[in-house]
Amino acid sequence: MIQVLDKRFRKLFSENEIQERIAKMAAEIKADLGDKSPLFIAVLNGAFIFAADLMRAMDFPCEITFVKQSSYQGMDSSGKITQLIGLDRDIKDRHVVIIEDIVDSGLTMYHLRDQLLQQNPASLRIACCTFKPDALKCPLKLDYVGFEVSKLFLVGYGLDYDGYGRQYKDIYVLAE
Ligand code: 5GP
Ligand code: MG
Repeated sequence: MIQVLDKRFRKLFSENEIQERIAKMAAEIKADLGDKSPLFIAVLNGAFIFAADLMRAMDFPCEITFVKQSSYQGMDSSGKITQLIGLDRDIKDRHVVIIEDIVDSGLTMYHLRDQLLQQNPASLRIACCTFKPDALKCPLKLDYVGFEVSKLFLVGYGLDYDGYGRQYKDIYVLAE
């Protein structure tokens, strides 16, 4: 058990399980894109640790860059709209893989995917560390998924509770 701010969390996936899963995901990505010099786009802040481990599991030429999504003032019909900031590369004709920490409703990823597709990449895939299939609210295909989890709140391995708890090597779930 760990304590983050006022809440207690119990371990769900160990560092070992995570690293084993990443090695398999890296092999899947290599099979698909190993000869295509893919560009990874990691979504800050949450994906920074997963992206670092996934990138280091790649033994072929690849690049990485980072983006952020800032919330707009308004909302669209889906209840959420975000603006993409920080993309410093031309992704036209590149094979792109988005790296995300967690897909919950999927709305954040849905908008990001849409924004990147407007720039005409050669292909666009999604890799996420954790995925809550029961929470998904839009048609989103995830190409590489680390762990499927139920609708519970997770922290650790980049995921935060109010900014805290990102540094843990394991993934934890809210205890109550
Ligand atoms: P979505 O748009 O898929 O509903 O939400 C995605 C974002 O919500 C994630 O990038 C993450 O910031 C946050 N989020 C969703 N579920 C969790 C969770 O279980 N733990 C944490 N720490 N953040 C979450
Ligand atoms: Mg995120």
